[in-house]
Amino acid sequence: MKPKLINSIEEMSVIRKQLKGKIGFVPTMGFLHEGHLSLVKEAKKKTDVVIVSIFVNPTQFSANEDLSTYPRNIERDIELLTNLEVDYIFFPTNEQMYPDDFKTWVNVDKITQVLCGKSRPTHFRGVTTIVAKLINIIDPDLIFMGEKDFQQLVVLKQMIKDLNFRTDIVGCSIVREKDGLALSSRNKYLSSSGRKKALCLNKSLLLAQKLYNEGLTSSNEIISQMTNLIENNECIIDYIEVFDPKTLEHIPELVGGCRIALAVIVENTRLIDNIKIV
Ligand code: AMP
Repeated sequence: MKPKLINSIEEMSVIRKQLKGKIGFVPTMGFLHEGHLSLVKEAKKKTDVVIVSIFVNPTQFSANEDLSTYPRNIERDIELLTNLEVDYIFFPTNEQMYPDDFKTWVNVDKITQVLCGKSRPTHFRGVTTIVAKLINIIDPDLIFMGEKDFQQLVVLKQMIKDLNFRTDIVGCSIVREKDGLALSSRNKYLSSSGRKKALCLNKSLLLAQKLYNEGLTSSNEIISQMTNLIENNECIIDYIEVFDPKTLEHIPELVGGCRIALAVIVENTRLIDNIKIV
């Protein structure tokens, strides 16, 4: 059956009140790929009713970013979600989510200022604000999100705990192309040579794991070898960081369970990826 399409907050709230069972929610910005769909499949397994939101959230983009060109294809998204038998697709308008008199922001301290927060200082404030609003509208039991955006996952878990929301987040593994590139709506921006260069993100993360397996633990030394690999592919590093997955604090020596995340500019596109060191 086709999912029910809902584009008003009021209608979503009315329908939500009538729903029974465990509600699973997958927030997205659309232009769906297998990464998004893996979250939906997980939600289908773990909950009774699955709601997917599609909303390109303007407040998480800064003025020099790609809000106006962000890829969109709502018809295709609906088709993909129909195939997975999603129950509801919520796609509100900007005007509804951010009316002219909008004044309230949700901000998580400290952990939003490291990693991606350094070069995108207002990004997470936009993410936490929109997800808080969506939680209030949809009141899900479980929210499904990808480890691809690892910092986002940690920030939102913190917000849910601090603000006593009753929902929980389920983190889902990163889905990759066969050659290792993490799926992202932004991969669409890459030329065919950029697409090849973009493999350096995953390759450098695998190099880090290999070096760790061989006994190297110095974060500086590992980051330096990752840097060489990426720069040899004509890509520009925004950051590479080795950190504790709970606190997001830098750690000087790799240990099992730590994460390495990076943001790299390939052609004009900023891509992110990360790995759990085991
Ligand atoms: P976005 O549409 O980029 O805001 O992403 C919506 C959700 O899909 C977020 O929870 C992302 O972490 C998740 N996601 C995006 N790409 C992937 C991927 N390659 N694998 C797993 N989850 C992903």
